[in-house]
Amino acid sequence: MTSDVTATATAAAEPRVVVVTGGSRGLGAGIVESYLASGDRVAACARSVTPEVEAWRASHPDHFLFETADLSRSADAKTFVDAVVARWGHVDVLINNAGVARDGILAMASDDDIDTVVDLNIKGTLYVSRLVTRRMLARRSGSVVNISSIVGRSGYRGLGVYSATKAALDGLTRSMARELGSRGITVNGIAPGYLRTEMSHGLDEGQMDQIVRRTPAGRLGDPGDIARVCQFLTDPRNDYLTGQVIVVDGGLTS
Ligand code: NAP
Repeated sequence: MTSDVTATATAAAEPRVVVVTGGSRGLGAGIVESYLASGDRVAACARSVTPEVEAWRASHPDHFLFETADLSRSADAKTFVDAVVARWGHVDVLINNAGVARDGILAMASDDDIDTVVDLNIKGTLYVSRLVTRRMLARRSGSVVNISSIVGRSGYRGLGVYSATKAALDGLTRSMARELGSRGITVNGIAPGYLRTEMSHGLDEGQMDQIVRRTPAGRLGDPGDIARVCQFLTDPRNDYLTGQVIVVDGGLTS
């Protein structure tokens, strides 16, 4: 009995290996901060290094790994995941956060706009998820969170391509949950409302004010609001919660 308790406590104390795509700034940086603060080992990637990345490399040399990668390229996704596995052997948690938006109505969208958004938001998520869940399947444990958006459900004028990719991710979340559930792997999505990050810089102050006025919580979201829900969804005790997309928008779409 005592040894069982000790074994459980030891297993719980082992830091998890958490992968955060697009973890160099914005929401991804908030998620990285959150898992580093809970003592986990965090691997992040993006196309470029930021001051936040430099700071984590210095402050958490044993718990933080960063690789430059353009996840719209399958080969980069593989190089990134291989680097994580070479360093820590496995992945416990995958947060598919990297995403991009292009403003403008669909009628005016260029091929490049469509390719950029689809190639990262859908194909990049598929590339990384395929590689990581292969390893989770072998260990029969893990959890995945796909960062979606409320506009994947509600739509938004001028964000048609982006909305399409987020709706696709919600379908992926449900399919992955069905494929992986029997192997002890949970897959959920989070659909944030409007966050004050570089991505929302396309909205002018008038639009921001209008969103705040319509939001019951009376403010825009911040990365911490979403990171806390990531922590909840990836807590191993929540192994019966899977296949869901949780809206975290201050009540905006309620
Ligand atoms: P952000 O500030 O623009 O950050 C995006 C992150 O993704 C950065 O780390 C960026 O780094 C990385 N990234 C971009 N293109 C990449 C590529 N090709 N390969 C690898 N990494 C790439 O955006 P955010 O607001 O934090 O958004 C994060 C997630 O939340 C996205 O999925 C977004 O759709 C979702 N979301 C955001 C909001 C919002 O209001 N901001 C609302 C709902 C959902 P590099 O540019 O250096 O590659």
